[in-house]
Amino acid sequence: MEAIAYGSGMVALKYAAEGGRAPHLISFALGYLFAMAEMGLYCPVCMTDGVARVVTRYGTPEQIARVVPHMGARDAAERWTGAMFVTEQAGGSDVGANETIARNGRLTGFKWFCSNVDANAVLITARPEGAPAGTKGLRTFLLLSREGVQIERLKVKLGVRSMPTGEVRLTDAPVEEIGGFDAMLEMMNLSRLYNAVAAVAVIGRAIHEARYYIERRRAFGRPVIEHPLAAETLLDLEAEHLAALLLTFETVDALQRADAGDEDAARMQRALVPIVKAVTGKLAVPCVSEAMELIGGNAYIEESPLPRMLRDAQVLPIWEGTTNIMVLDALRVARKEGGHEIMLSRIRRQFPREAEEIGAAFSTLDERGAREWVDRLARAFELTLLAEIGKDGAVERLR
Ligand SMILES: Cc1cc2nc3c(=O)[nH]c(=O)nc-3n(C[C@H](O)[C@H](O)[C@H](O)COP(=O)(O)OP(=O)(O)OC[C@H]3O[C@@H](n4cnc5c(N)ncnc54)[C@H](O)[C@@H]3O)c2cc1C
Repeated sequence: MEAIAYGSGMVALKYAAEGGRAPHLISFALGYLFAMAEMGLYCPVCMTDGVARVVTRYGTPEQIARVVPHMGARDAAERWTGAMFVTEQAGGSDVGANETIARNGRLTGFKWFCSNVDANAVLITARPEGAPAGTKGLRTFLLLSREGVQIERLKVKLGVRSMPTGEVRLTDAPVEEIGGFDAMLEMMNLSRLYNAVAAVAVIGRAIHEARYYIERRRAFGRPVIEHPLAAETLLDLEAEHLAALLLTFETVDALQRADAGDEDAARMQRALVPIVKAVTGKLAVPCVSEAMELIGGNAYIEESPLPRMLRDAQVLPIWEGTTNIMVLDALRVARKEGGHEIMLSRIRRQFPREAEEIGAAFSTLDERGAREWVDRLARAFELTLLAEIGKDGAVERLR
C-alpha cells in the first residue's frame, strides 16, 4: 500500500519539478482514491507531506536540501516518512498547556498520541526554558534521530489500526529548531484538509459498496434498489457525499491558489479549513453507518470492508481537533479576518436571503450558537457549489 501511495507521486509531485501547476489538486485527487481503500495509511502520507511543507516554508536552505528530497521520494530506499507530536496529557485541544521543555537543543517531555510513531522526521512542539505560557511560548522542532526517544506504549485503537499510534517519552532528545508555533499550525492546517479528503473518501467508498450490493441483492421479487425507500436513502447519501466532496475540493483549490500568492484565496482557505474539517469529519460516521444498514446484515460481518471503515471513520471528528474545537477556530478566524465574507458573497449570488440571514446572525453570535452557525454557513456554501454546477436535484434534496 505504501508503494502505491508514495509511488503514485501523491507527495513527490508537490516537492519536485514534475509537480506542474496544480500539485495539490492532483495529490488530493489521488489521496481521495487511496483513502477509499485504506484510510489509516493515508495518515502517514499526510504527516510526510506536512513535514515536507513546513520544512520547505520554515527551514533553512541547508535543512530543506537535507530533509525535503527524502520526504518527497517515491522510492522506499530513499523515503523518510513524517509525524507530528503535539498532544500531551496536559492538553490535546489546549495545546498551549504543553509541558515538554526545550533546553540546549534537546527536548524532555512526554507526547501522548503520536501517529506514525516510527517516522523518520517528526515535528514536535516544546517550550524553551523560560518562554511564556500558552501557545505564544511554544516553538516547533524537528526530530530526526532516535536518541533519547522511547516509545513507551502502542495505543490499542478502535480503528485506523493499519498505522501505529504510540506514547513517546523524550529524554534530552536532540532536535533542530524550525520556527515558532505558527510552523506547527501550518502542518495542522494541512492535516485538517487531509482529514476532510479522508472523510469524503470513506463516505464515497461506503456508498459504492452499498450501490453495488443493492443493485444485485433481490428482495420481494426485485433488486433492492428498485424499492423507492432504498433508492431514496441511497440518493440522500449520494447528495451528501457530492456536497461534501465539492466543499472539500473547493478548499483544496483555495489552498492551491493561496500557494500561488492569491491573498483572497489564502483568506478563504483559512476560513474553510476548520469548517470543512468539522462538517466532513462529523458526516463520515452516520454516512458509513447508513450505507452499512442499506447493505444489511452482510455489511456487519467482518468479511465486509464496512466494519473496518466504520471504525476508521470514528477518528475523523476527533483527531486533528474535535468538531467543537474546529467550530471555535472557525469563529476565531471569521472574527479576525472575515474570510467567511468571501463565502457569503458566493452564497449571495445563489441564495440571497440565506446569505443575509447568516451574515446577520454572525454579528450577535456567541459560542453557544457557533456550531449551528458554522453548520448553516457550510450547508449554504455546499448548496451554492452544487447550484453553480447545475446539480439542482441535490440542492432540493439537501435544502
Ligand atoms: C487515533 C488517534 C491518533 C492521534 N494522533 C495524534 C498525533 O499523531 N499527534 C498528535 O499531536 N495528536 C494526535 N492525536 C490526538 C488528537 O489530536 C487529540 O485527541 C484531539 O485533539 C483531542 O484532544 P484530547 O484527546 O486531549 O481531548 P481534550 O482536549 O481533553 O478534549 C476533551 C473534550 O473537551 C472538549 N473541549 C476542550 N476544550 C473545549 C472548549 N474550549 N470548548 C468546548 N469543548 C472543548 C473537546 O472537544 C473534547 O470533546 C491522536 C488521537 C487519536 C484518537
